[in-house]
Amino acid sequence: MRVLQVASEAAHIAKVGGLGDVLTGLTRELLSQDICPVLLLPKYGAISYDHLTRVGTKESFEHHFQGISSKAYVEQYLLQKTIPVLLLDLEEGFWSKQSAIYGGFDELGSFVRFSKACFDWLSQTNQRFDIVHVHDWQAAFLSPLLRYCWRAPHSVPKTILTLHNMEYQGKCGIDSLQAALYEIDTLCPEGLFEDPSDRCCNLLKAAILSSDGLTTVSETYAREIITPEGGKGLDQVLLKRKNSLVGIINGLDAESWDPTTDSFLSKQYGAHDSIENIRAAKMVAKRSLFEQFNIDLRYLDLPLVASVTRLVSQKGVDLLYHVITSMKEWQGASLVLGISYDPMITEKFCHADQILTSNRRGKVVLQSNESLAHQLYAACDLFLVPSLFEPCGLTQLIALRYGALPLVRRTGGLADTIVDCHFGSPESERNGFVFEHTDHHSIDSTLSRALLMYHKDQKTWEYFMMRGMKLDSSWRLPCKRYIGLYRDLLFK
Ligand code: ADP
Repeated sequence: MRVLQVASEAAHIAKVGGLGDVLTGLTRELLSQDICPVLLLPKYGAISYDHLTRVGTKESFEHHFQGISSKAYVEQYLLQKTIPVLLLDLEEGFWSKQSAIYGGFDELGSFVRFSKACFDWLSQTNQRFDIVHVHDWQAAFLSPLLRYCWRAPHSVPKTILTLHNMEYQGKCGIDSLQAALYEIDTLCPEGLFEDPSDRCCNLLKAAILSSDGLTTVSETYAREIITPEGGKGLDQVLLKRKNSLVGIINGLDAESWDPTTDSFLSKQYGAHDSIENIRAAKMVAKRSLFEQFNIDLRYLDLPLVASVTRLVSQKGVDLLYHVITSMKEWQGASLVLGISYDPMITEKFCHADQILTSNRRGKVVLQSNESLAHQLYAACDLFLVPSLFEPCGLTQLIALRYGALPLVRRTGGLADTIVDCHFGSPESERNGFVFEHTDHHSIDSTLSRALLMYHKDQKTWEYFMMRGMKLDSSWRLPCKRYIGLYRDLLFK
């Protein structure tokens, strides 16, 4: 079975968040389960070629957009010598001129062109795909194109759309999409691109209604998005496709996230080591970060509470701010690695940094830094994910694998992966701390339970630490479910 994965991110090539982790991890696992996957991305200027090897020749094709024909091409690579990757660019380096993955350019128009170019390439290449798996709004335009504009309907690949986050839908004014739509408008059902409530176009909505298969990234999120609160305006559209909507939890890419081989760590460790060795290796990581960020070494034996996150409202930034700025009361230190796009949030976390650094209890690092992220997962004891909503969440899974206990809000994929150490059921799956409400009291009382266990009951803490490190959160089972879905689509 040949599967084309179309997306805007892939870890080790072009990554902003979890979408990138998912694309690389899922594609790697599909390969090991005897499927032939190929990953297709725009050839951004920001592509990292460190892990890519060029193979094959450049394949040119005709790209038709807004009544104009131009040349476009795909180049073939292998990621880490195994995963087939195609990078697509339009004439005169349209994509290679974009130095960032998102923002700073006509993002929506560019991804619409990217999807149309994917369609043009699929129509002209000798390569045949059984399944085209599109991810999020950036690749969403491809789905209606394949459904309504493919010239030979009996040979059209089956499409599957994965919804990674309903907050981002690819909405734009009718005028900006009109030019792109004019060639295909008469072929698509009327109103396909119209947003249900705003007077604008909505790419994700069109793909939800056009794709053969529909998935999202956890079972709880699949239930949440068919409610008015979770659907972000598309709940009624999703309800129409309720019977096709499947929640499949994301896995972790074992090659990217494995403390036994992690080259970003100066001392590796893993679940097979003794608890003494694990503690010693985690202490090496902790000491190194304390020295780097001038945190008082007297706090080395206190719990290090950490977070690695995009600092956006979804991630519960107010709760995060509240916890880290009250660290003095909690007998702990705190380190946050966050990337912020909003000046108000940036200012808030600069202020949190001032509070932490003035009493040498921690640091807020406002950047995207893969190396520091790995070191932080290894160094920390407690990992905060206070999200207001969370489709799946990967950071809590990474934290578990690196021997930290997650403290999360009960929502989406967090609810499906973290079971409270005190109250959660089943007991055999307890692995972290879970709070319910978005007020300070809820997170404070849960944090207080967690830190009490850390300070007073080291044996129990270590027991849950070891359990978390041994948890199988690999792509093996989720990938089998995707393959099952691909087969259902092909043979039904
Ligand atoms: P989302 O995709 O919503 O941002 P996920 O939990 O699904 O959240 O995935 C987040 C991914 O991005 C993880 O691999 C995490 O380590 C990484 N990440 C988040 N923030 C940063 C940052 N500031 N620097 C480096 N990596 C980050």
